[in-house]
This record gives sequence, C-alpha cells and structure tokens, in this order.
Amino acid sequence: MGDDDLTAMLQPAASRVRDPLTGRSVWLANMIRNPRPKGDDLIYDLHFEAEHSVDDRQRIAQAVEGNLRELGFSGKVYAMPAGAPPRMPGGRAPSGPAGAPPKGDPVKGMSGPGMGPHGGPIQKAPIEGVKHIIAVASGKGGVGKSTVSTNLAVSLVQQGFAVGLLDADIYGPSVPTMMGSSQRPMVDPATKQILPVESHGVKCLSMGHLVDPEEAMIWRGPMVMSAVRQFLQQASWKGLDYLIIDLPPGTGDAQLTLIQAVDLSGAVIVTTPQPVALADAVRGITMFRKLEVPLLGVVENMAYYELPDGTKDYVFGRDGGKDVAQRFETELLGQIPLQTSLRQGGDAGVPVALNEGPVADAFADIAKAVHAKVAGA
Ligand code: ADP
Repeated sequence: MGDDDLTAMLQPAASRVRDPLTGRSVWLANMIRNPRPKGDDLIYDLHFEAEHSVDDRQRIAQAVEGNLRELGFSGKVYAMPAGAPPRMPGGRAPSGPAGAPPKGDPVKGMSGPGMGPHGGPIQKAPIEGVKHIIAVASGKGGVGKSTVSTNLAVSLVQQGFAVGLLDADIYGPSVPTMMGSSQRPMVDPATKQILPVESHGVKCLSMGHLVDPEEAMIWRGPMVMSAVRQFLQQASWKGLDYLIIDLPPGTGDAQLTLIQAVDLSGAVIVTTPQPVALADAVRGITMFRKLEVPLLGVVENMAYYELPDGTKDYVFGRDGGKDVAQRFETELLGQIPLQTSLRQGGDAGVPVALNEGPVADAFADIAKAVHAKVAGA
C-alpha cells in the first residue's frame, strides 16, 4: 500500500466519527492533521480543544482506529494528541509540559488531570493471565536498570517461576541485546496475539521492536502508553507468575502515564551510590509513593569494585543506595559490584545470573526478596 493510499484512508475513517464539541465529523472539524505513514504503520496528530474530555479523546482515537481496521488497514495506528490538554473539572486547562511544576508538586508533571492518587481518568488495566507485574525503575539512565531487570527475570526463572520481561525503555531499549532476544516477535495467526521471544526461559518483548528510539525521544506519555499498551494487552503473556517491566529512566510524563495505567504489584528502584544518582533515585521513590505503588526496595548497582587483594574500592561512593533505602524505610535488596563479567554478560546476551558466583547469588537474593514481598512468601 502506497503512502497516499494510507493517508487517503484517514478521510473516510475520520468522517464517520463525530466531534462532540462542534457536532461535525472529526475530519471536517480539522482535528486530524499531519498524517505520516511509517512503513506499514500510520502516525497522525489528533488535535483537541481544552473542552475535549479525556473520555472524548480516547473514544475518538479508538473510533478512528476501528474505522481504519474496517477499511482493511492492518498496520499500527498512532494518534498523537495535539492541541490543548483537557480542562480540569471546574478549573482552568492545566499548563503544558513546559510549564513550571505547581507548588507542592515534588515531581515535575505530577499534578494535573489524572495525576491524583485516586480515580484519575487513566484506567489501570490488569493483564490477563499475569499474577504480578513488577516495575524496575531508575531516576537516570546508565545506572544498570536493564542489567537488574534481565538478571532479576532470569533469577526468578531459576527459582521456578514463569517470567516475562517487557522492555518499555523506548529511549534506549537494551533488553534484546542483554537477553539475546533480538529476533522480531511473531504474531499468532489464529489469535492475532504478539508472541514474545523466549530466551533463557524468559518471555521477552522490547519496545525496540515497535518504535524507532530516535523518534521516540520526543514522545509524550500518552504516545508511549499507546505503544506499550499494544505489548501489554495484545501479547501472549498468559500463565506468567511475574511480568517485569523495564521502565524508561526518569520521572517524566511518559513514566507517570505508564505507571498509572498498569496495575503494578510493586517497584524496584535501581541506583548507583553517588549523590547525583541518589537525588534522581529519591525522585523515583517519591513518584511511586505518590502513585501508591508499593516500593519493594532499592538495588545499589556498581556499589564497589573488588581489587585483586580482596579489598573494595568504592568507585562511586559508599553505601549511597543503602542510605536512601534506610531514609525511605524500604529494603536494600542488594549491592551489586562493578564487575567486567556483568557488562560482558549483558553484551553477549547471557545475564550473569545464569552462572554461579557471588553476583549470581546476589541476584538470586534480590529475586527471593521480591517474591517474598509480592507474594507474601
Ligand atoms: P540502564 O538500563 O540504567 O540504562 P544498563 O543496565 O543498560 O543501564 O547498563 C549500562 C551499561 O553498564 C551496560 O553496558 C551494562 O552492561 C553496564 N553495567 C551495568 N551494571 C554493571 C555492573 N555492575 N558492572 C559492570 N557493568 C555494568
């Protein structure tokens, strides 16, 4: 199908959807803008006024997509919300993402519609057939979040659990490399479900398979969520004890939307011990607390480097993660050393937790602690 055919389909699809504000079709109301085909997929801007409620927004995007399907479109459809954010009930429209955080908001972007701990418009959806969903988060990139996600997943498998790993870090998806699961996932022709790629006993899916990370850099929360939702709701996760979600680093709009939309059993925070990383870790902890997601504990990564004579060099400072865990009255789940084998294992797609040794034992302990907290074992 050519680019022109793809965009031409939008007109009949959008002409059949009514805009509740103007009473016209969303096509004639000029809400559909800038369609841009990408391979077999279609991206377009869906332009709203502040008076469009969150429900209106979801309903319109879904209706347009439904009509596209009826017209035979089989690619992915991304409706990028544009225009004004929804007006809060009885109040002004909130300021845009560039606005300063409102007073008393400890994390930028944590106030506004849908950000309340109770009953925001974002619905938490359980994932069919999955017992527990665990988020692995970090305040900043490069601290070892994916290393912990992959090794935690493998350790849980070794302890007899059925485990899935969803790499939602659209800004730097590294799970395919670290798990050796870089094949594109297949779709089951009968159920139309995405089939995760199984590696080391873990069912893996990565956003890297769905989106181009360079393009994703500018995505806002709802766009990230619509991409993640495809993997959460349309993949074959049935029968899992644990689904680990490797979150994008940080505490921005994308993370908030995702965390609010998923029924998380708990979150693991990964940090390195130096002060700059800890400040970001604290923001992460605050975010989960505010969203009422149970904090399972902190993993301090790159905690020390063991010298040949057995002494420890605290390259990034000592016990920073431990101190943060104490301060926030949560568990220090483990202190993982800086070790070449960890990096090599990640690069080779063979997580160190698969081998024997003190680091594998440390990850096994983290997995046991997570299970004990989540399942009350
Ligand atoms: P993040 O997910 O936080 O961005 P990664 O897990 O991708 O971080 O880690 C970044 C890099 O650092 C990777 O190459 C990884 O193999 C390496 N790395 C992570 N933890 C360790 C460690 N404890 N020792 C050595 N290398 C590590």
